[in-house]
Amino acid sequence: MDKKNIKETHYEVLNVKEDANYEEIRASYRSAALSLHPDKLLKTSDTSSSDQAISEKFLKVHKAWEILSDATSRLIYDKELKNSRREDFLASEVAEDLRLQDMTVEDAGESETLEWFYQCRCGDYFSVDSLELQKIGYSLVRDENSISIFILNVDTLPGSVILPCGSCSLKVRLVLSMDNS
Ligand SMILES: [Zn+2]
Repeated sequence: MDKKNIKETHYEVLNVKEDANYEEIRASYRSAALSLHPDKLLKTSDTSSSDQAISEKFLKVHKAWEILSDATSRLIYDKELKNSRREDFLASEVAEDLRLQDMTVEDAGESETLEWFYQCRCGDYFSVDSLELQKIGYSLVRDENSISIFILNVDTLPGSVILPCGSCSLKVRLVLSMDNS
């Protein structure tokens, strides 16, 4: 994938949301393909100047449909998309690396949800909670005074998470590891 070039995603080409289901994608593809189909263009006059652009668009729509209509290729594409976005994000400013132990943990009493904070230079905070960590594949288990990290899903496991500041553009990288030393 070309990361330098911010190009349209296949979802954008078909004008569907990234969580659109097969039916939605198909409906969108059909209406796009219909309006761009070469047969249809023959009926309209004076299209010569835009013929090229329209047939390129048609190819893009068709390519997008090819990839998104197949569950396996869509999955691979989604992964590529996610990786390239994460790399872009990582490349932007990261103030420092942190571990959970460096952060202040806030225990909301009986609640299962824990939230960690770390103060930014601007006075606001970087924060992450255990639900967010769970979503990306980490589970946290508490005993008396320590918190252990467990991996839920090895396939999707990132070794770190970027946390944006609540107010400014700074970010920190939260490095996650299994050992809770
Ligand atoms: Zn800040």
